[in-house]
Amino acid sequence: MTSLKDTLSSLLRGDVTDDAKTLDTMSRDTSLFVRRPQVVVYPKDAADVAVLVTEVAKLKAQGENMSVTARSAGTDMGGGPLTNSIAAVFTKYMNHVREVTEDAGGGYAVTEPGVYYRDFEKETLAHGRLMLESYPASRELAAMGGIVNNNSGGERTLEYGKTEKYVEEIDVVLSDGSQTTFKALDAAALEEKKVLQTLEGSIYRGMDELLTSHADEIAKAKPHVSKNSAGYALWNVKDEEHHTFNLAKLICGAQGTLALMTSAKLRLVKDQANRSMLVAFLSKEDMANLPAIVHAVLPHNPESFESFDQHTLSLAIKFLPAMLSQMGLFRAARLGLSFLPEAGMVLTGGAPYFILMAEFSEDTHEAALAAATAARASIAPFNLKTRILKDERASEKYWVVRRESFALLRKHSKGMYATPFIDDFVVPVDSYPQFLPELDALLDEYKQYFVYTIAGHIGNGNFHIIPLMDLSRPEVRNVILELAPKVYDLVIKYGGTTTGEHNDGIIRTPYLPQLFGEGVYELFKKTKELFDPENIFNPGKKIGGTFDDIKNDMLTTNT
Ligand SMILES: Cc1cc2nc3c(=O)[nH]c(=O)nc-3n(C[C@H](O)[C@H](O)[C@H](O)COP(=O)(O)OP(=O)(O)OC[C@H]3O[C@@H](n4cnc5c(N)ncnc54)[C@H](O)[C@@H]3O)c2cc1C
Repeated sequence: MTSLKDTLSSLLRGDVTDDAKTLDTMSRDTSLFVRRPQVVVYPKDAADVAVLVTEVAKLKAQGENMSVTARSAGTDMGGGPLTNSIAAVFTKYMNHVREVTEDAGGGYAVTEPGVYYRDFEKETLAHGRLMLESYPASRELAAMGGIVNNNSGGERTLEYGKTEKYVEEIDVVLSDGSQTTFKALDAAALEEKKVLQTLEGSIYRGMDELLTSHADEIAKAKPHVSKNSAGYALWNVKDEEHHTFNLAKLICGAQGTLALMTSAKLRLVKDQANRSMLVAFLSKEDMANLPAIVHAVLPHNPESFESFDQHTLSLAIKFLPAMLSQMGLFRAARLGLSFLPEAGMVLTGGAPYFILMAEFSEDTHEAALAAATAARASIAPFNLKTRILKDERASEKYWVVRRESFALLRKHSKGMYATPFIDDFVVPVDSYPQFLPELDALLDEYKQYFVYTIAGHIGNGNFHIIPLMDLSRPEVRNVILELAPKVYDLVIKYGGTTTGEHNDGIIRTPYLPQLFGEGVYELFKKTKELFDPENIFNPGKKIGGTFDDIKNDMLTTNT
């Protein structure tokens, strides 16, 4: 009998492999899960992806249990790109920025999914300092396919929003292997699509009907927080202001469960050239004032408002040489010296309990500095230790710590695993005075099982809590399924969402009914059925994932 690898090799121009080393690599992302694919495919181009999906659809129809899961850089924190079937990896061949163009609204880029963000940014900056400002903290590691399909956000989301705002068009391969482009359609163009007697036509008919007949329910379902990646973004498809219908907005954040993205047109904005940062150091006692401090800073419109805790800073100082060794010699030496005051604080036990970073961007250096200074004046009543960092060079070390926080934990927690399972919830900033003490009390109940670090987007109410756990102990693993629903009950009580940017994956899919209610979850299921009736795209993510999946596929070691 011909193996799956041989069958696919005979059809595709790209590479197909099932060697043990590759399968091991592709069985992991940065989550707490392991799922080993049967075969890994590196498609050459969109036509190759179409051939792959057509073949999988054919085999599935013949009764084979088979699926395709897209993977770009594989840095997902929730198991999104993991599969036991076929992994389609885009970074090897489909890694070209096809176009960057400046226009009256800033500009746009057309990119393939396998382009690393770090390479994408080099190209966009070269065109009049254009940028995709929704880049994630994993900016040095992640690729465009994941950024779009997770609907990623990051440090500048406070001012600029998430990736969903910038997605204009997405080229996709649908679940029958056909190709199309999802983009904004006016009423006439939508009607033209709806008469097509193809899968695409039936998707448009079904989605228009679903969105129209459940309009009120969908509008109410949209989480009332500034960022959300949970569920399907049904509320983003119809643009009431411009009277358009754009399924690209639904594909964004759908984790490759509805279609495979082969390229995307993304709007870009001109990056502000001047930045200044206000840094505030809080003691444990100051934490009671955190909500009021955040409220005092926000009216000054920071571009970013981020935070990290004492544990994160201590880890950064402890592993400074390892962190700096990834950089060029000159930059490493300059940054290393700039960390001396913080190193002193940590070594003498005087490290702050919590650090806030509010960065202001303006047209001129003077205006940016003035904004940071005004923000500092507004928090003067709280008597905090503060610093103003005049420019991006001065603030760089804080960004290094903030962006590296998760990576540091992953690499340097000996005998423990940096376990993302309550790593990305969002609550309204107004709820901090009630929410934070309740969360603290809840986490305190489990303190015998783990220590944790907190970093995050404090201005958006988006917290990254990363517990360090010994996953070799069954009683510790059990905590994950016991604590997560309690945290989410709390988050939901205060009007929040389970994930602001990291998305559902294996870890949060089973909580979608708890978050949205059974009625809205039924609409998600109908959406999946319209796009992918045979469930060949990334099964168990968004739809059909269970608590048993979490239990069964969880790591049982700390490596
Ligand atoms: C240190 C660190 C910091 C992080 N910080 C952030 C952060 O600030 N914000 C944030 O949003 N995330 C963050 N993440 C998580 C992750 O890096 C991002 O979500 C990133 O955008 C994922 O990109 P990727 O290329 O690695 O995607 P992958 O892990 O490869 O895939 C992510 C999801 O997208 C799907 N997908 C990938 N390519 C395609 C395609 N071509 N078609 C259809 N579906 C596709 C996959 O199936 C999967 O479900 C962080 C991760 C790490 C390790």
